[in-house]
Amino acid sequence: MRLFDTMERAYKEMSALDGRTFRFYCCGPTVYGPAHIGNFRTFVLQDVFRRTLETGGQRTMHVRNLTDVDDKTIRESRQAGKTLTEFTGFWTRQFHQDCDKLHCLSPHVEPSAVAHIPQQVAMIGDLVENGHAYKSDDGSVYFNIASFADYGKLSRLDDRELEIGRSHAQRASSDEYEKQSVSDFVLWKHRRPEDGENFWTSPWGEGRPGWHLECSAMIREYLGDTFDLHSGGVDLVFPHHENEIAQSICACGGHFASCWFHIAHLMVDGGKMSKSLGNLYTLEDLAHLGWSAMEVRYVLISGHYRKPLNFTFDSLHAAREALAKLSKAAAILAEKVTSPTAIDSVDFGPFQPAWESLNDDLNTAGALGGIFTVLRDASKIEGLEAAKTLAALNRMLGALGLILPEPLQKIDIPAEIRAIAEERQAVRQVKNWAQSDVLRDLLEERGWLVKDGKNGYELSPR
Ligand code: AMP
Ligand code: ZN
Repeated sequence: MRLFDTMERAYKEMSALDGRTFRFYCCGPTVYGPAHIGNFRTFVLQDVFRRTLETGGQRTMHVRNLTDVDDKTIRESRQAGKTLTEFTGFWTRQFHQDCDKLHCLSPHVEPSAVAHIPQQVAMIGDLVENGHAYKSDDGSVYFNIASFADYGKLSRLDDRELEIGRSHAQRASSDEYEKQSVSDFVLWKHRRPEDGENFWTSPWGEGRPGWHLECSAMIREYLGDTFDLHSGGVDLVFPHHENEIAQSICACGGHFASCWFHIAHLMVDGGKMSKSLGNLYTLEDLAHLGWSAMEVRYVLISGHYRKPLNFTFDSLHAAREALAKLSKAAAILAEKVTSPTAIDSVDFGPFQPAWESLNDDLNTAGALGGIFTVLRDASKIEGLEAAKTLAALNRMLGALGLILPEPLQKIDIPAEIRAIAEERQAVRQVKNWAQSDVLRDLLEERGWLVKDGKNGYELSPR
C-alpha cells in the first residue's frame, strides 16, 4: 500500500520498519462528551487503513490513547460535579459503544493519560536535563522551541512565523492554540485552583501534564523512539503533532514517526463539524432519525480522506441505497452457490481494481466504485465463479469494515401489507394506474415503499 505522507508531502510505501509488524499510533478521543461523526471520520478511516493492511497479510500493532486529563476534561467534569475518573470513564464507555456500532476494530493497546503520569514526569525530566525545557516564573515547565531546529517542519511554518515565536519568547499554557501563536508550549502545568483535586506531584511541584506531552510519553512506552506511522485529523498537525515531534525527538532521539497520515475534516454547510461550533451530529442523534451506524460508516468512507467531506442527509439516503444494492447482489450470488465450494486461494478476482484503489492512498471512493462495477452484472455470474466472486466480495467488504443489511426480501413483511401490494399488482395488470397510485399511497401511509421492476415489485420499509 502507498499513502501520502504529510511530512514529506509525497507518497510512501507502507512496510513495517522491523519487517514483521506495522506499528502505528492514532491520537485518541478527548473523553469529555460524545464523539461526533466528524471525529469518527478520522477513526473510521484509521480503521480502514488497518483493515486494508491486515487484509493484505500485514501484521499490525495499533495504539490509540484516551485523553482523559486536559483543560476540557477537567473543566467539564467539575461542571458536572463528578470526579475526573467517573466523568471520563462514562464517556470512554460511550465511545467504545459507538466504535462497536461502527464496526471499528479495538486498538491493540489503548493507554490512558491518567494511568501514565510517571512516564510523563520522566519525559519532562529528560527534557529539562538536556536543556530543551525550563521552569518559568509561573511555576510551569515549558518546552523551548528555539532549542529544536526542526520545529515547524511538519506544518511548514515559515521563517517569519518562527522568528516571531522565538524572539518574543511567547508561552502557551492552554492545551490548544492557533498557528498564529507559535510559542513555547507547556509540558507541566502548575496547579491552579480551577483544577480542583486533579493534580499530581512532580519535581517541579504539584500540577498536571500538558496535553501534547501525553501522546509523546505513551508512544515512548508502547512504540519506542521510532515507529511506522502516526495519525490524526488535520487539525492536529499544528500545534499538537508539531509539539509531539519536538518533545519526542529531543527526549528520546530516534526519528519518531516514519509517516504521517492526516484525515481531512467532515464538514457541515461549509464549516468543520466541531463541538465548539455546535454543528455536530452524534451516532445517537442519527439513530433517533432512523439512520444506522453502518449507513454512517458508508457515508464516512464515501469520499477520499484527503478531501473535506460535506455531511448531508442526501448522502445518508445514498448510503442506504448503496448498502441495499450490495446486499441484494450478495444475495443473488449466494443463491447461485448451490453446494459448499472449497475455495483454496481467495484472491480479489474481479475486485482486483477495487483492491488496488484501496491500496493506492486509501482510495475508498474508488474501491466502492470498483465494487459496484463488478456487481452490476451479478446475475450473469454462474457456478464456481459466483462462489469465488462472493468470497472476494466478502474480503473487500472486510477491508472496508462494511456489514451488509439483510437482503430486503428477508425482511418480514406483514400479511396485510403483502395483500395491498398484491392487489396493486393486480390492478396494474389491467392498467388501472389511478387505483395503483391510491394503493401505493396507502402502502406509504403504513410505512412501506413499493418499487416496480422487471420481475415484479419490491417492498421496503420507509
Ligand atoms: P478529539 O476528541 O477532539 O481529541 O478528536 C479526536 C479526533 O477527531 C482527532 O484526530 C481530531 O483531529 C478528529 N476530528 C475532530 N473534528 C473532526 C472533523 N470534523 N472531521 C474529521 N476529524 C475530526
Ligand atoms: Zn496526540
